[in-house]
Amino acid sequence: MQESTRLASLGRDPQRFGGLVNTPIFRGSTILSSSMAEWEQRKADRAADVPGATTYGRFGTPTTHALEDAIAQLEGGHRAQLFPSGLAAITTVLTGLLRQGDHILVTDSAYGPTRGFLSRVLARFGVETTLYDPRIGAGIAALMRPNTRVVYVESPGSETFEIQDIPAIAEAAHRQGAHVVMDNTWGTPLFYKPFEHGVDVSIQAATKYIVGHSDAMLGIATCTAQTWPLIKQAAQDLGQTTSPDDAYLALRGLRTLGVRLRQHHSAGLEVARWLEGHDAIEAVLHPALPSHPGHALWQRDFLGACGLFSVVLKTTSVQDMHGFVDALQLFGLGVSWGGFESLVIPFTPGGDHTAARWPWRGQALRLHVGLEDPRDLIADLDQALVAMSRRLRAA
Ligand SMILES: *Cc1c(COP(=O)(O)O)cnc(C)c1O
Repeated sequence: MQESTRLASLGRDPQRFGGLVNTPIFRGSTILSSSMAEWEQRKADRAADVPGATTYGRFGTPTTHALEDAIAQLEGGHRAQLFPSGLAAITTVLTGLLRQGDHILVTDSAYGPTRGFLSRVLARFGVETTLYDPRIGAGIAALMRPNTRVVYVESPGSETFEIQDIPAIAEAAHRQGAHVVMDNTWGTPLFYKPFEHGVDVSIQAATKYIVGHSDAMLGIATCTAQTWPLIKQAAQDLGQTTSPDDAYLALRGLRTLGVRLRQHHSAGLEVARWLEGHDAIEAVLHPALPSHPGHALWQRDFLGACGLFSVVLKTTSVQDMHGFVDALQLFGLGVSWGGFESLVIPFTPGGDHTAARWPWRGQALRLHVGLEDPRDLIADLDQALVAMSRRLRAA
């Protein structure tokens, strides 16, 4: 079946639910058994990891299981586990795979709170982290230690948008028995197929494009058969549960994920191309632009681009950047992305990012191009850049 057909049919079973097109919202904690025989059967099914088996709300409901099943199939993995946020998925996966004395290699372009969890929490439990340059590729082999148990990748990098050579990294990691964990939120289950590139656990901040409407928070980890028991057990040990209402919203978002992403791809690229030609812009960091250093890798491994990329203004002045953002009418100022609406947020590269990798001087902003007409978005960016340069000339 083609992907759009799968998006319309996965995670639905009308016959099971009175003919209803959508899997309903099942709320509940206690699940009653009508006899000891049924109770024993439920427990046995759960012990045998039968899909959908549950004895208590914490172990899932038909609503959460439907979403897990759909995402596991779309990503091409064995099974998936839901979490109350993308970050909860990341922290639980890492807790499930790492133990005291282990070493983890993490791309220094990883989502900031991921790096914070390692330095603030797992470091206290004796897990050592080494940050590596995202463009390292097969060179990761030189950083592997006998106790390296996880290599963490995120492609493109949060804010800085480096594309990683994940097959080369996975080959080096697997040679030493380490697991490859990927934050695949930018790629989505449609535009990056992690298990075809050597990934062992793929994490989605479903808060972003899967929910798609900025109205719920959710995370999902999809696993290989080998990593699944560890991740599932960690989720249970840490008491991770997900609201069936939020899972329902994510299932609803899934139905339009394909059409939304096609639009985010084309509108994002249109806006990125326009910005690249503007003389107030120092750089546009969008992997689908031929000027992007990771463009060839993106073309080789990705099936599309979402609406998220970064732009560097020529101006180095914070006040100019504030003036530009304040002049924007159609881009909301706020974190997160993947909803229907356009967003902008400034960021400061550097910190624990490898300084040599950031050659730009100007003020950096991350843009999310939503589902508005790109002509309106371009007109908005244009007037804000004009307003900024008018202020510059006046000063
Ligand atoms: C937002 C985000 C997360 C975290 O997801 P939440 O649902 O906000 O916890 C993780 N990774 C990336 C790349 C993100 O953008």
